[in-house]
Amino acid sequence: MKSPITFNRPTLVGNELDYVRDAIEQGHISGDGTYTRRCESLLRELLGSRVLLTTSCTHALEMAALLLDIHPGDEFILPSFTFVSTANAFVLRGARPIFVDIRPDTLNIDETRIAAAITPRTRAIVVMHYAGVSCDMDAILEIARNHGLPVIEDNAHGLFGAYRGRPLGTFGALATLSFHETKNVFCGEGGALILNDAALESRAEVLREKGTDRSRFFRGEVDKYTWVDAGSSYVPADVLAAFLLAQLEKRESVQEARRALWIRYRDELASWVQERGYALPTVPPECSPAYHLFHLVLNSAEERSAFIEHMRGRGIQAIFHYIPLHNSPMGMRLGGRPGDCPVAESVSERLVRLPFYTSMPAETQQLVIDAAREFF
Ligand SMILES: *Cc1c(COP(=O)(O)O)cnc(C)c1O
Repeated sequence: MKSPITFNRPTLVGNELDYVRDAIEQGHISGDGTYTRRCESLLRELLGSRVLLTTSCTHALEMAALLLDIHPGDEFILPSFTFVSTANAFVLRGARPIFVDIRPDTLNIDETRIAAAITPRTRAIVVMHYAGVSCDMDAILEIARNHGLPVIEDNAHGLFGAYRGRPLGTFGALATLSFHETKNVFCGEGGALILNDAALESRAEVLREKGTDRSRFFRGEVDKYTWVDAGSSYVPADVLAAFLLAQLEKRESVQEARRALWIRYRDELASWVQERGYALPTVPPECSPAYHLFHLVLNSAEERSAFIEHMRGRGIQAIFHYIPLHNSPMGMRLGGRPGDCPVAESVSERLVRLPFYTSMPAETQQLVIDAAREFF
């Protein structure tokens, strides 16, 4: 039997193994070695803001909640259609999620519903750029400004995407990145915190280093390091940063390959999608996508199950996500109710993702396209 076509296949794109070997030979395998610094300065050059590598995007979100001093009784606003980490980071601080529905086109938070969700307890607006296509940041930043609220971008999908020419991850006071193996560039498990508000920088360094001023010690700014605040262990190993640097160095070819795959799916499936009444991804003109994933929205839950089964029968792994957070068991314990976010509920039952990864050969993609078109 031919090997199945999986939805993701993390592959080496450059000097990963050489850099990992070098990190080991340098004798600095733990965090904040030369490779961590090189990743952080490369990301800073690309984004124009201070960046701290972290052990995951989930942990970077936890740091964001700590930096904003989120407390029990606080509320935060977020889309229901996102990964659980967007919610958990703030829930761990005792805050209550206020779930907002998504737009039916981009599947991002519906900016027209945010203002009505704000109460005197609201402490943050958390957004996620689905598939790497930006939220309506002009509208969201204006609402945030009018209410004096910080915006946090869960930018796990959006590294290298842009909105009106400005990189995603540079709009909120804080933004996060993921380098999990399913993301555009990866190191297995990893992430980053982007600090667009310089006032948060020194506390972020301390939180990340177990509540100590070790970062200042390493820079020679203090002669010993000590416990100065609450904190945890959010520093990734330098061997992982070495792997990540090799990936980041190849970002242009990675993004070009993903762009070509994305466009090919869109163009080759367009007439089939139109005949069937499905929806292709929507990219508003002010958005440059990050090409994180390729999804379709079918007409019904039954049709999606049949499609996934059809693809599986041809050795192709088509998958779906996300179960809306507001009517998940935990979301309901926190006050969510079925029916609160009808667009998220409907899309969640009908969305399907096609295999999509940087090293996907054109012939493999053609098999997926042919198989999809045979679904009638
Ligand atoms: C992948 C992902 C995360 C979590 O990233 P980790 O690095 O695995 O913690 C968070 N939010 C979104 C939207 C994601 O896609």
